[in-house]
Amino acid sequence: MDLKSGYPFWAVKNGLMQAFDPLLEDVRCDVAVIGGGITGAIIADALADAGHEVCVFEQRDVGWGSSAASTALLQYEIDTHLTDLTREVGQESAVLAYRACQEAIGLLGELARGVRDVDFAPSDSLYFASHRWHVRRLRNEFEARRRARLDTQWLEGSDIARDYGFDAPAGLLTSTAARLDPYRMAHRLLQRLQRRGAGVHGRTRLIPVHATSRQVTLASESGARVTARHVVVATGYEAQRWIDQDVARNRSSYACITEPIDPGVLAGTMLWETARPYLYLRTTGDSRLLVGGEDDSIDIPKRRDVRVEKKAARLMKRVEGLFPQLSLRPAFSWAGTFAETPDGLPFFGPHPQWGPRVLFAMAYGGNGIVYSMIGAGLLRARLEKRAHPLMKLFGFERLR
Ligand SMILES: Cc1cc2nc3c(=O)[nH]c(=O)nc-3n(C[C@H](O)[C@H](O)[C@H](O)COP(=O)(O)OP(=O)(O)OC[C@H]3O[C@@H](n4cnc5c(N)ncnc54)[C@H](O)[C@@H]3O)c2cc1C
Repeated sequence: MDLKSGYPFWAVKNGLMQAFDPLLEDVRCDVAVIGGGITGAIIADALADAGHEVCVFEQRDVGWGSSAASTALLQYEIDTHLTDLTREVGQESAVLAYRACQEAIGLLGELARGVRDVDFAPSDSLYFASHRWHVRRLRNEFEARRRARLDTQWLEGSDIARDYGFDAPAGLLTSTAARLDPYRMAHRLLQRLQRRGAGVHGRTRLIPVHATSRQVTLASESGARVTARHVVVATGYEAQRWIDQDVARNRSSYACITEPIDPGVLAGTMLWETARPYLYLRTTGDSRLLVGGEDDSIDIPKRRDVRVEKKAARLMKRVEGLFPQLSLRPAFSWAGTFAETPDGLPFFGPHPQWGPRVLFAMAYGGNGIVYSMIGAGLLRARLEKRAHPLMKLFGFERLR
């Protein structure tokens, strides 16, 4: 599966930070994590930190999947409004999911500070109404978030014009958001893991051989065998191939980054909007403007590839419409596959098709990285046979 097109900025900027050696010999471990993207890296780090003996296997190079294409806005606000999620899963569960996301931003900050130099920075996030007729819905969402004691503030159009210099009828502002370089973070976490003695292997594609009630056996293309008490399938959007059940839908998202600018008020605030698909933008540590959106339902890489330039031009045009004073020079543009679940929630845990020793980590949706952080705690609780408040809500159990 080709997960990205064009020139994803993080891979261009950082290059191949480290080539991890392929697996050449049989290995036995407590937990085999398959997938060296941001999800696998965060989960492997959390499990190793808790004393589990972990090995990580990546079929490409680390971070070279969709993590390299991610624009990495870290927000507690998931793509499904709290009001809509409440209708889907009930108020208690919806609030639980939102609060967990809010808490995960802080946890990601701690993790980033631990590995250092991953372009993590806290930020405000402004969710603005794209049209006047969206204001009522946004107001309802504001009330729901306030009742749930989530960090949110109502802004009138005049507040937005004064503080941010663009026209929008209203908006929700939160100071609980952050940015990150997800490719660098995956590398730094896995480098640290390797320094601490764990096996981390690149260019090692694993396929499952069989799972029993005691262990799971996997094989690499070179013939090396991996035997583990548990397996974490953190293979990103490719994980859908592991199960027959249809749990998500693949889409393509487009992004573009400019040459460094004087970001003005945008330096400390990321923006996104109520229209679907939404436009979103944020700055980077080197003062570039990173813009994304224009999502479509294309799941065929070749068809996605030819759209990158046109989509990037449209993204730039929209930003210029909002901020005509900014002089934007596009530097790189790209597209990436991402998957969406019907309710916008992820799946972390065992699937009946594979039994209890194979744990999936499907951090699907626009908030994938935040979900990965929550999923790390959740899978750790699963392995240690402890309860976790999100176990059912973020597991395949919610589909039954
Ligand atoms: C354009 C775009 C913008 C996004 N913006 C945001 C955002 O603003 N905020 C946010 O939170 N999220 C965002 N996301 C989502 C986020 O990027 C994903 O949640 C995250 O990158 C997924 O990471 P992952 O590790 O699960 O998947 P990946 O990075 O794809 O990692 C999975 C890895 O598994 C490997 N693999 C697959 N099969 C095997 C196998 N059999 N053996 C060994 N290895 C295997 C793959 O090679 C791959 O490297 C965005 C995604 C895209 C595409």
